[in-house]
Amino acid sequence: MTRAPLRFVLALLVLAASVLSCGLTRPPSMNPPGDAQQDDTFEDDVVSARTLSEQFWKQQFARLGRTYRPITEFIPYSGSAGPSCGGQPAVPNNAFYCPVGHFIAFDRDWMEGLWSDMGDGSVYVIIPHEFGHAVQAQLRSTFQLNVQAELQADCYAGATLSGLVSGGALRAEPGDEDELLLSLEAAGDPTDDWLDPAAHGTAEQRQSAFAEGYRSGVGAC
Ligand SMILES: [Zn+2]
Repeated sequence: MTRAPLRFVLALLVLAASVLSCGLTRPPSMNPPGDAQQDDTFEDDVVSARTLSEQFWKQQFARLGRTYRPITEFIPYSGSAGPSCGGQPAVPNNAFYCPVGHFIAFDRDWMEGLWSDMGDGSVYVIIPHEFGHAVQAQLRSTFQLNVQAELQADCYAGATLSGLVSGGALRAEPGDEDELLLSLEAAGDPTDDWLDPAAHGTAEQRQSAFAEGYRSGVGAC
């Protein structure tokens, strides 16, 4: 890959500690005007996050002597017009993995809003998190969403990003740390409120899981 769309700070872990200590009240960082990275469109980032996530997992599975099964579809939708999953209708302002059909769908307008407001880091958290669920569906005998699965998906997302940065597929630059951490709070999931600690874990747990994956890789998840 020659694309390097992610501005991401390598000092994530240090920052995570400082953000946690102040309760995540900082406003999201904005892209500086004239930043060359703004040449990446929303569509560029979405395609890149999907392609790179699958590339990463294909390699991880190969190392284990297994074959990664790519998702069947990657479906943008608008409002309530998304694909249903096992009889459950898609909801607005959400992204989700559906084990029935092995696809990922996302409210495109919502995600573009996050991308505009919070920066491209949002896309690079949400999409790898959903791929984390797609991986769980392949590694676990039964797929069920609960706090443990959500935190593992956050850990997988962190591991994916660090793997892509260390492999050179993404470039790490200062300024995106807030985007990534705040995105963990802002992003949605299919069955429940993203902010509900009973469903996904607390913000601290989520950031900790993400940081653990980022620091130590898939094996730590
Ligand atoms: Zn999730």
